[in-house]
Amino acid sequence: MPRINRQRNKIRLLFELSMASILLVFTPALHAQNAVDGAALLLQNARLIVGDGTVLEGASILVNGDTITAVASADEITIPENVSIVDLTGKTIIPALIDAHAHLGYAGRFNWGAENYTRENLIDNLQRYAYFGFAAVFSAGSDPDELALEIQTAQRSGEITGARFLFAAGMAPPAQGPNNQFLVHALRLAEVTGMTILRGLEDPQQARAAVREVAAKGIPFIKLWVDDRNGTQQKLEPALYRAVIAAAMANEIPVFVHQQYAEDMPELLDAGVQGFLHGRLGSAFGADIALAVKQANAFVVPNLGLAELRREAIGEDPFLRQVIPPPVAERLSTSSGQRQLHPPLDPARERELRESFAHLIAAEVDILLGTDAGAIPGHPFGYTGHRELEIFVRLGMTPMQALIAATSKPAQRLGLEDLGLLKVGFSADLVILDANPLDDIRNTRSIYQVYLRGKLVDREAFISNLAN
Ligand SMILES: [Zn+2]
Repeated sequence: MPRINRQRNKIRLLFELSMASILLVFTPALHAQNAVDGAALLLQNARLIVGDGTVLEGASILVNGDTITAVASADEITIPENVSIVDLTGKTIIPALIDAHAHLGYAGRFNWGAENYTRENLIDNLQRYAYFGFAAVFSAGSDPDELALEIQTAQRSGEITGARFLFAAGMAPPAQGPNNQFLVHALRLAEVTGMTILRGLEDPQQARAAVREVAAKGIPFIKLWVDDRNGTQQKLEPALYRAVIAAAMANEIPVFVHQQYAEDMPELLDAGVQGFLHGRLGSAFGADIALAVKQANAFVVPNLGLAELRREAIGEDPFLRQVIPPPVAERLSTSSGQRQLHPPLDPARERELRESFAHLIAAEVDILLGTDAGAIPGHPFGYTGHRELEIFVRLGMTPMQALIAATSKPAQRLGLEDLGLLKVGFSADLVILDANPLDDIRNTRSIYQVYLRGKLVDREAFISNLAN
C-alpha cells in the first residue's frame, strides 16, 4: 500500500471494494482525473436501507461516476482525497423506487389523452418519476413502438434524463385490450403516428408471427390483456395466449398479463406467464392461487391504489399539489364533488383484501410495486407509487417488505441488474430521506434529495418549470 500515508483516516479497510474503488483509493492519477470530473462523491453517516432487507446505521456510500464503488460503516471507510463529502447525519438512504406497472405518454401536465403523447411529454413523465424518487418505470403495452425504442436509445446514451423507461409490446384480441376510454386513445394514437401500439391476435399462427416481429424489433417484454371488461370486450382465448407465451419463451421474452379474474390465473401460470400486473385480490384469490403463483415463480403486482385513490381528494395532498397546476388540483379535490378527503373503506372488502394479501406474503410470492398510473385521468405518476406503499403496509406488509417490493424485486423481475440495491457495483440511483420509512412508510415522502446514475436530480427546477 504505497499511498497509505496519504490517507486522512488510517482505518480498517473492511468494506467491500470493487475494482473501481480500489483504483479510486490507491491510484493517484485516476484519482486526480475523477476529481477534475467532479465524479467522486461520498455520502456519509446515513442510515442505509439496502433493499435486500438489511439496514446499515451510520454508513457511507462512495459514488464514482454513476456507480456505487464502496459501502461501509463510517469508521471502516477510507476517505479518498478530492471527493465531495456530504454529511447525512440523521437521514436515511433507500434505493430509488421502481414502478412495475404504468402507462406513460397519455397523461400531460393539464389533461389526459392521445394528443399528449409526444417525445417531450414522455420525457416530462420520466422526469416527474425522478422527482418522486423513482429510478425506473415499466410502461405496460400502450406505447408507439418506434418512439418508445428511440427514447430508450436516447436514454442509454445519456441524452435524456429521468427515470429509466421500460416498455412492453401490447397484445390482445384485435382492437381490444386497455380500458374502453384508454382503448379509444391508444387506437387513435396508432392511427396518427402510423406506429404499432396494440397487436391484435387472430389465430395461433398469426400470434406466433406477432411475437417474432416483437423480437426482431428488440422490444424486451410482452404484455397481454386477458379481460372482457365486464362483458364489453372480447376476452383473449387460452389457445391464443398459449401461442404467444410459448413463442415468447422461445425468444426469451418475458410475458406479463393484465387479467380481470383470479380464476384465470392458474391456466395463465400453466401457459408460462411470468407476472400478473393486477393482483385481483379478494375472496377469489385464495391460498391455493398464491401457492400456484409461487410454485411457477411468477410475480404479482397487487395494484390496489387504482381503485382506491380515484375516490380520494388527492389534489389536496401537498405532496402531490406542489407538482400539479391549480386547475388539475381542483379536479382532484373535494370541490369536484366526486372525491372525499378520507373516503371510508368498506370493512368487508378490506377484510378480503387483507386475507388474500396475507396469502401472498405467507406463500412468499414476489410482490412488486405497480400503480397503473397514466391508464386513466387523475392517477398521477410517482405520487401514486408512494400511496401504494402505504396500502401495502396497511394490508399487512412491514415497511421493510414494502420497500423491497418497490426496489430489489421489481429490479430483478424487469432485468434491471444494476438497480434496486445499495451495493457495490450498482448504479448510484438512490433517495435520501429526512425521516426513516421503517418507522412510518409515509416517510418515503420526506424526500431530501434524489440521485439517479450518480447525478443529483434537480427537483426544484422541475417544480419551477411547471409554470411553463
Ligand atoms: Zn395497466
